[in-house]
Amino acid sequence: MAHTVTLIPGDGIGPEITDAVVRILDAAGADIQWEHAKAGEGALKEVANPLPPETIEAIRRNRLALKGPLTTPSGTGFRSINVALRQEFELYSNVRPVRTLQTGGRYEGVDIVLIRENTEGLYSGVEHYIGIGNDPRAAAESVMLVTRFGVNRILRYAFDYALKNGRRKVTLAHKANILKYTQGLFLDMGREIAKEYEGRVEFEDRIIDATAMQLVLDPGRFDVIVCENMFGDILSDLIAGLVGGLGLAPGANIGESAAIFEAVHGSAPDIAGKGVANPSALLMAAVMMLAHIGMNETGRRITAALEATIREQDTLTPDLGGTGTTSTFADAVIRRL
Ligand code: NAD
Repeated sequence: MAHTVTLIPGDGIGPEITDAVVRILDAAGADIQWEHAKAGEGALKEVANPLPPETIEAIRRNRLALKGPLTTPSGTGFRSINVALRQEFELYSNVRPVRTLQTGGRYEGVDIVLIRENTEGLYSGVEHYIGIGNDPRAAAESVMLVTRFGVNRILRYAFDYALKNGRRKVTLAHKANILKYTQGLFLDMGREIAKEYEGRVEFEDRIIDATAMQLVLDPGRFDVIVCENMFGDILSDLIAGLVGGLGLAPGANIGESAAIFEAVHGSAPDIAGKGVANPSALLMAAVMMLAHIGMNETGRRITAALEATIREQDTLTPDLGGTGTTSTFADAVIRRL
């Protein structure tokens, strides 16, 4: 039976890369019906709402979405629609795998899965200004909200993910030396839960800043990393950089009632409309979606075609050192399917 997937092309390079990805999935024979929906800056301009209720309804109905990047204004303007979607559907686990696909880069053999708590922490969106005297913005305060419920669920997800996917170790990255309550809760629960997996999954904890340095010096020592929301956001761009940049980093936002698959990167306004964006990250996110709905074989074929295209340097996009376009790169993947 065909799966219906909500397709949100998004902003900036979003429509270009979603076109390419849909073309590749169709060519691979993925039995998917696409239901288009709007969100982001484009939706704000078109229908005066960056997250129209029809889009929320479509995701609720289909329980699956493939989403291009959405622009979020910095400092002012509407709140991040990405964060809003993660909170609306309680997509508590953000899974971001990176793997070396292009040889000759800084590191060979990188294979890390970052699991980021996706609904709490500093991105809970609980912040306000504090007025003092005549200055209504004399200070500002953000709340780092951490619950036992939220921490328990993300840590168990990370250990179970490791078991299910044959991974050897979970590293919990934290800042419990300074944030003794919020991060302390994360660390304490990590140590507790790790005991249940003893002998099956190795466990270690590391302070987040040291983790960042170790990732750059010796990424091979990491396997699965789990951390709170903002730390995970930052580390996932870092690990993308280890394997050639954001063009190769996919992500899945997983909850009990829905899952939204996307690239780690944003709308890349600097290259939008030029037809040179790398569609690989969104394609790899689509492959994660295929695995999620049991279309593993189709996903494997697409991965093999993508890897061969990158290995043989066939019409690579400029971010990977080539002179190809989004469209010629997609054609090259399709030729190999
Ligand atoms: P970005 O990820 O869009 O771009 C950073 C750099 O990486 C740019 O030089 C860009 O050209 C390059 N890049 C990104 N994706 C690429 C691709 N597929 N192929 C080739 N090069 C690529 O980050 P930014 O510029 O800081 O953010 C732009 C907008 O995207 C902001 O509004 C931000 O809030 C939003 N954003 C959205 C998401 C999301 O939708 N999940 C994630 C991150 C940022």
